[in-house]
Amino acid sequence: MTARPIAVVGASAAGLAAAETLRRSGWRGPLTLIGEESHLPYDRPPLSKQLLHGAWEPEKLRLRTEEQLAPLDLDLRLGTRATGLDVATRTLTLDGTERLACAGIVIATGVAARTLPGADRLTGVHTLRTLDDALALRDRLINGGTPASEGVAGGGGPRQLVIVGNGVLGCEAAAVARELGHEVTVVGIEETPMAAAVGTDVGTLLAEEHRARGVRLLTGAVDGFDSTPADPADGSGPQVTAVRLADGGTPGSRLPADTVLVAIGSRPAVDWLTDPALDTTDGLRCDAYCAAAPGIYAAGDVARWNHPAHGRPLRFEHRMNATEQGMAAARNLLAELAADGPTGTEDGTPAQERRPFAPVPYFWSDQYDLKIQAYGLTAGADRVETPVRDRAGRRILALYGREGRAVGVLAAGLPPRQIRALRAVVADPLPWEEARERIAAATAAG
Ligand SMILES: Cc1cc2nc3c(=O)[nH]c(=O)nc-3n(C[C@H](O)[C@H](O)[C@H](O)COP(=O)(O)OP(=O)(O)OC[C@H]3O[C@@H](n4cnc5c(N)ncnc54)[C@H](O)[C@@H]3O)c2cc1C
Repeated sequence: MTARPIAVVGASAAGLAAAETLRRSGWRGPLTLIGEESHLPYDRPPLSKQLLHGAWEPEKLRLRTEEQLAPLDLDLRLGTRATGLDVATRTLTLDGTERLACAGIVIATGVAARTLPGADRLTGVHTLRTLDDALALRDRLINGGTPASEGVAGGGGPRQLVIVGNGVLGCEAAAVARELGHEVTVVGIEETPMAAAVGTDVGTLLAEEHRARGVRLLTGAVDGFDSTPADPADGSGPQVTAVRLADGGTPGSRLPADTVLVAIGSRPAVDWLTDPALDTTDGLRCDAYCAAAPGIYAAGDVARWNHPAHGRPLRFEHRMNATEQGMAAARNLLAELAADGPTGTEDGTPAQERRPFAPVPYFWSDQYDLKIQAYGLTAGADRVETPVRDRAGRRILALYGREGRAVGVLAAGLPPRQIRALRAVVADPLPWEEARERIAAATAAG
């Protein structure tokens, strides 16, 4: 009988980390890596930064070359979608027909971009989640919508770009588009840019930064688009001409646009997980070991797991978490399989114990030449203080609290040594006053 594989679903940061860890930790059995996209695993953060800007080409985003993947001896199934999972038998359905019975499964399907009704059928309206998305938007911003071979950078002249959504992604794209010389309006429902993620103090500083660079910032909801009619003569579809605001003080008003980026957040890619044994409310619900069910683990943007230090289920859309959780889920899956009986790891490696996954969350965002870095939890705080707030020096330090403890810290413009020292302050949520004292000591240290 052929040994059952471990299957990793989602061939991106978390899935790749899981596959590599499975091999490194001694899994000698078959290993299948399934990814819906046709690309080799690539890095997403540069999509809204260096790639959109035109500074990097897609090859530079590749996480591994084919040669680097070869030693993993993967059954690499790119362009393949997992469409179902039977939890009791650990059997995946691929592309609606093929069945794959597995020894264990790591689910790392990430999230998909949310969009607005009607956006799909309009030329000029984009989302930004995949490499293909980013290349399509870049083509519009750099080559004026003509194929790269026919155009020169900026050849199409300035675009009227409206970005719907003032979260992290919208802000990063706004910064790049301004640097490329386009007219940029950002319209979103958050009071200040990125307020839901980092609060209004930091958001106000960001708003000042964007305004100083010439970005127009509006608060309001969008309820649709205006467009040209389709032209049957040349076969072209309708082209966006404006974004319609639902309110925002000017009911019925329209923002003229020839290009729109819809950056209104994401939804976890769990639509294919319909087995009632799984809880898929806001991501795939896991225990502290990243297990969603026996033999089935999850990692990365899709996973919502019990963080032991915070005592509640959390889900992060952070690049570093994807790698760390992919590794943790793979190790814990192998430990479970080893505890259950002989597995493909019989190479003398002693079975490891399963360990709770308890990272110090980290994320960064680059906007213009401002690098924002944060450790711990900055969203959902009930208290925020900004011990450093220096608009002219473009420096900020914010401390985030919840239920009397410091849970997160964010900094921009501080020396790298100080920023590294901040991590320790929120590694374990400290009482608020103690954390404040440690922050003061860390920043006084120069
Ligand atoms: C534009 C952009 C900029 C970002 N910038 C930053 C940043 O500055 N800092 C930061 O910390 N984080 C950033 N992030 C977030 C970071 O990239 C993600 O946290 C990370 O990519 C998550 O990795 P993942 O492997 O969990 O999921 P993903 O990278 O989303 O990969 C999931 C993969 O699974 C595939 N898939 C989905 N469903 C199926 C299925 N049913 N069958 C098969 N395959 C499937 C998808 O096609 C995808 O390739 C950014 C994200 C984006 C999109």
